[in-house]
Parts: sequence; structure tokens; C-alpha cells
Amino acid sequence: KFIAFEGGEGMGKSTQARLLADALNKRGLEVVLTREPGGTPGAEAIRGLLLHPPGKGWGPEAEALLFAAARADHVKKLIRPALEAGKWVICDRFLDSSRAYQGDAGGVGDTKVRQLHEIGSKGLLPDLTLVLAAESNHVAERLRARDGDASDAIGGRADSYHSDVNSAFQSFVREEPDRFRLIDGEGSIDEVHERIVDAVKDIAP
Ligand code: C5P
Repeated sequence: KFIAFEGGEGMGKSTQARLLADALNKRGLEVVLTREPGGTPGAEAIRGLLLHPPGKGWGPEAEALLFAAARADHVKKLIRPALEAGKWVICDRFLDSSRAYQGDAGGVGDTKVRQLHEIGSKGLLPDLTLVLAAESNHVAERLRARDGDASDAIGGRADSYHSDVNSAFQSFVREEPDRFRLIDGEGSIDEVHERIVDAVKDIAP
């Protein structure tokens, strides 16, 4: 099975993805924990280009192409082989980040982002996508407190860009309730983890 974590910046996705992977591992499942952009040497190299653009930044169209290219490599070399071997794959961000960031906030459009995904990754979708959401002022606090450096984010984006991203994720959940679960990201790490374990119960009893 394939589970993706999605959401805006500072929602604690990476921590929660790791905790879920550990929990499933303890149940004896073989779990591959990975992230996007990244996960394979080629895709990690593209991640470097995305986070540290040579020059003035890529712009949404080039970003969409680079994310799709990184995902194509990741899917072909890591995700599909793992799924075919019967492993569980947990991915920190996937297609729906491209739909929210480049497609909606960046203005590339959902159809084009999906077309790139079709070309690059034969349209592979997660079995379940968990969208973490929290009050934006709490997120801002978390981001300030985060010890990781800001160089691990694509900078230069307006607040309105990030609020478009968050509303796009909310509408994805409304449009496809079967594929998505909205997770309340407020509270302690353990509380959020419990909500996630509960949300994946259907596919990981
Ligand atoms: O998941 P993480 O926060 O590490 O993502 C790294 C950076 O890439 C963030 O700044 C995020 O906003 C950006 N990103 C993006 N479009 C995507 C996926 C991630 O702009 N499709």
C-alpha cells in the first residue's frame, strides 16, 4: 500500500510520516519511508536545483516540470519496485503538492500538472493521502521555531501563495473524500500521531 503525507509548510509532515512508518514497522510490515522531491539520487539532485535555483528562481512552469521529472525517477526506481515487492511506501509529499503549489498557487492549472504526472509517472496515485492542516498562526510559530535552516524551503513566496496552497489542499479533500483524509495538525506530536493511526485503520488495520 502507498500512503502520502501532504500539507503546507510547518505542519509536521516529516515527523508524522516517520512515526507512522515506525508504527507499521513494529507491526511487522516492511515499510519504505521516502520524500518528494527526492528519494533517489536523481530526484535528490533535482531537489537541490529546486531549493537552490541557480539564478532568480524557476517560476511555476519550470518548477512543475522539475517536480514531475523528480517524481518520475522516484516512482520508477523506488516507489513502484517497492510496491511490486509487496512493501508499504510512505511518502512525504507527492503529486498533490504539485497540484496545490504549482497547479493552484502557481497558476499552472490542475489539468497540466496531472498531464505531467501521467507522462512522468503513468499517473500513479497513493492509496490514501493524509492532509495535515493547522491554524496558520500556529504554523508560523512552528516555522520560526524550526531548527532546520530556511534553505530547505523554496523562498520568495508571498503569504497569499501559502494560503492558496492550504485552501487547495482543503478542496482536494472535499472533491475526493475517498482518496484523502484531513488530519487535524493541532496539539502534541503524539495526539496527531494517534489521529493518523486512526485514519489509516481501513487500509492498515
Ligand atoms: O516538504 P518540504 O517542506 O521539505 O518541501 C521543500 C520545499 O519545496 C518547500 O518550500 C515546499 O514549499 C516546496 N514544494 C513546492 N512544490 C511542491 C513540493 C514542495 O514548492 N510540489
